[in-house]
Amino acid sequence: MKFFFDYERSELAKMFSPPFRATQIFKAVYQHGIDDFEAMTDLPKAQRTSLATEWDIKLPAVHRRFDSVDGTRRYLVTLHDGEMAETVFIPEENRDTVCISSQIGCALACTFCLTGQLGLIRNLSAGEIVAQVLITQRENMQGSFNIVLMGMGEPLHNYDNVMKAIRILHDEEGLNMSMSRITLSTAGLLPGIERLAQEPMIPNLAISLTGATNSKRDQLMPINRKYPIEELLDAVRRFPLKHRQRVTFEYVLLRGVTDAPEDALNLAKLLRGMRAKVNLIPLNEAEELNYRRPSDAAIERFQRILTDHHIDAFIRKQRGEDVSAACGQLKKKWA
Ligand code: SAH
Repeated sequence: MKFFFDYERSELAKMFSPPFRATQIFKAVYQHGIDDFEAMTDLPKAQRTSLATEWDIKLPAVHRRFDSVDGTRRYLVTLHDGEMAETVFIPEENRDTVCISSQIGCALACTFCLTGQLGLIRNLSAGEIVAQVLITQRENMQGSFNIVLMGMGEPLHNYDNVMKAIRILHDEEGLNMSMSRITLSTAGLLPGIERLAQEPMIPNLAISLTGATNSKRDQLMPINRKYPIEELLDAVRRFPLKHRQRVTFEYVLLRGVTDAPEDALNLAKLLRGMRAKVNLIPLNEAEELNYRRPSDAAIERFQRILTDHHIDAFIRKQRGEDVSAACGQLKKKWA
């Protein structure tokens, strides 16, 4: 059986006859939430029966859902090999956000991230990425929403599947997600950023920086030893941006490691003149991590130094911590 969500409409048009069936079925699945060919009454009866033997158009089952007191929900989506994709739904006042995973585990081993401790287990297919969005959308959302690729995994490390998923989600005959509502976050995989810059359709870019000097970042994010800060920021400066669009820098605040005024000054210096904003993420603590979250005073002091240097900085609210759904907490906690 072929997994429908793995295919772009242009590919489907080559597989269905007549080709316009691709658009018909795409619409039925993505816009009307139909998961059974029998319900597609605009298709000839015989074709409905034969399609059902070749194509799987059912969304994967939700193994479990964990509901946080703050409304955040963490989903475990059952995949064909028994692995689970972790997805987080984050309700927000203006517009809800769904945070999706691109891999199971992650190869990059950032020292403050629990997913990093798992190592890479496997890439998710395009359809497994798309399905996470549909599952959370159908359960939680009516209107438009944001997608962030900030779950498990390094999206640029699974480049082809991630970009394919983005094209499927963007298709105007499907979910019709605007590129401005999709954010791809990377720990700084330089070749991937350069490749992304050449794409015809480009989502918002977020860079997980956290260290503001190479010596510090080398310690926290081993990927920095390969692609140091100057090269990374040069690539970001070359990255094409639309009118008023900015790159987001995520910066995890670790007590005594990245939260000093000097760190804030270094960060301000690095980002000077860039079309950028900063999301400060106070560490989500865990037993397995040898770091602490800074005091609220230190967090606010850090933010103030950035804004004093004309850099927009926001403190990311902690969401879903009680159900292991917060940033850096996705770690195959299945019970
Ligand atoms: N690999 C990509 C996508 C994951 S995004 C990337 O690194 O950008 C996950 C975000 O959570 C990253 O910005 C990361 O820096 C942050 N993060 C990781 N562990 C964290 C923790 N324990 N507390 C708070 N934020 C964390």
